Amino acid sequence: MSKRDYYEVLGIPRSADDNAIKSAYRKLARQYHPDVNKAGDAEERFKEVNEAYEVLSNAEKRQMYDRYGHAAAQSGFGQGAPGAGFGGFGGFGDIFEEFFGGFGGARGAARGPARGTDLRYDLDITFREAVFGTEKEIEVPRLETCPQCQGSGAEPGTQPVRCPQCHGTGEVRRAQQTILGQFVSVTTCPRCNGEREIVTSPCTTCRGQKRVRVTRKLSVSIPAGVDDGMRIRLAGEGEPGERGGPPGSLYVVLSVKAHRLFQRHENDILLELPVNIVQATLGAEVDVPTLDGNTKLTIPAGTQHGTTFRLRGKGVPALRSNRRGDQLVTVRVVVPDRINDKQRKLLQELGESLGLESLGKNNRSLFEKLLDAVGDAFG
Ligand SMILES: [Zn+2]
Ligand SMILES: [Zn+2]
Repeated sequence: MSKRDYYEVLGIPRSADDNAIKSAYRKLARQYHPDVNKAGDAEERFKEVNEAYEVLSNAEKRQMYDRYGHAAAQSGFGQGAPGAGFGGFGGFGDIFEEFFGGFGGARGAARGPARGTDLRYDLDITFREAVFGTEKEIEVPRLETCPQCQGSGAEPGTQPVRCPQCHGTGEVRRAQQTILGQFVSVTTCPRCNGEREIVTSPCTTCRGQKRVRVTRKLSVSIPAGVDDGMRIRLAGEGEPGERGGPPGSLYVVLSVKAHRLFQRHENDILLELPVNIVQATLGAEVDVPTLDGNTKLTIPAGTQHGTTFRLRGKGVPALRSNRRGDQLVTVRVVVPDRINDKQRKLLQELGESLGLESLGKNNRSLFEKLLDAVGDAFG
């Protein structure tokens, strides 16, 4: 498994000081936080950034990493009583501490509990479902602890046995000669993979893999007011942990289909309402579709194109609250593009009688300025 250099992950030089490390980490953690970043690899990057920071922000771990790279991290950074009992080496004390502390830690190589992998499920819901909430049944393919062997990997009736290579310690010690003398390196036992025991009669259901792939039906409760891109976390519904670790989470990522009429801006619903020039001029009572069915809206006489009316409480419920947003109805005055002879005649008559008065005070002065400008231009 190749790993990226921690300095490269944080995008900092090897000489970076603590403040530079901290600020690079904050920036990247914000950028890749799975709650903010919906990219497929965001979670992976987030973990990588955290891991890099965990090491580089700790002076001791950083020093070990600078010297030994990722090998130092895999050895657990000498969590097993670093340097105990080697104080008598005088001037070499530091170096020996690193060797024995970093690589000689008694629990360094054996593997501890690991949390299960988080899963992601992309779920399409309708506009209406997002607004009012819904209950959805989903089928999630995932690994689960093998029911036959309860995750031991051994056929029922048999027991895993202590690993003969590492004698149940999960690690292998090797003495090495260096210019500084002999030191002992400890690595994960290759036979049991650090698990301390091996299975001699593998479970027939999971073939000793301890886990089986199943498709699990789960029901997801989607609260009213969710929006596109939101994630619902189902704790414990990810893949099982290893060596007694807790299971991961399942993240259901919502994708809300566009509505044919309505648009959404936060908790408000936006609707464009076409009216004709007569309705806009004389005023009218019109039917307006809302999420709760049709409602009447009175358009006052002389309503201009682009005027917005607010229907209070006809919007989207705020998440986990009873308050609802509004529906904003914006009038679009539609000019008829096909008229018959009679309509043309009526409009011509109307045009003759309207004159400049019809433009309203503001538009009238603008129009007069225009006329003046045209007059100047043509002398
Ligand atoms: Zn099994
Ligand atoms: Zn072993």
